Amino acid sequence: MRLKNVPGSREAIAESEFVIHDFKETKGSFKKLFGNENPLHIEIGMGKGKFIYRMAELHPEINYIGIEKYSSVLLRAVQKMEAEPLPNLKFIRMDAEEIEEVFDEGEVDKIYLNFSDPWPKDRHAKRRLPSKEFLARYDKILRKDGFLEFKTDNRGLFDFAVEQLPEAGWKAEKITYDLHHDEEMVQGNVMTEYEEKFSSMGNPICKYIIYR
Ligand code: SAM
Repeated sequence: MRLKNVPGSREAIAESEFVIHDFKETKGSFKKLFGNENPLHIEIGMGKGKFIYRMAELHPEINYIGIEKYSSVLLRAVQKMEAEPLPNLKFIRMDAEEIEEVFDEGEVDKIYLNFSDPWPKDRHAKRRLPSKEFLARYDKILRKDGFLEFKTDNRGLFDFAVEQLPEAGWKAEKITYDLHHDEEMVQGNVMTEYEEKFSSMGNPICKYIIYR
């Protein structure tokens, strides 16, 4: 998602109470930050935040952090929170390559990746969020018995993601190549912005749930 630069978005993010700014200092203290002992779920590459906002609305007993690289995109999520704030949702503007500097070992209970950028050139494979390089980073921050869920309509990216698993030491708990017609896996499915867009065009949605 490459929105044009939105003037003032960087400043608005820098001032927002819904964004964690000193995120390298909150490492290991997210329970303190939220003021409770609830589990911590994160979405990496949340875009405008439709999915994570809805998840936080539906599950007040879980704390959520949405991570997004670009201010101009994150701004939409911040504006939604300004209009209708939720106590269990915060955002971080950062490149997920630095994720281990933000969360302590095992501090995260669940990770969501939704419609991650495909980076189609082979030489950019390491930048794909479900690559083995990123799985190694998630391995550090995710609770030992935690799960990671990934959805996309991009079959090439999904096949790549599945191929990465054994080498990275992860296993698939469940896989579907047509989520919306999978009676079991579609239960409780919350659609992302991209999922709405691409499924309305008739694209089947692939999803895996993985663990190690
Ligand atoms: N998850 C949303 C959805 O399903 O509607 C947005 C999907 S959009 C295609 C991918 C988003 O991931 C973009 O907003 C992009 O800026 C963000 N992103 C890609 N690589 C990232 C990274 N390394 N760190 C943080 N965000 C990233």
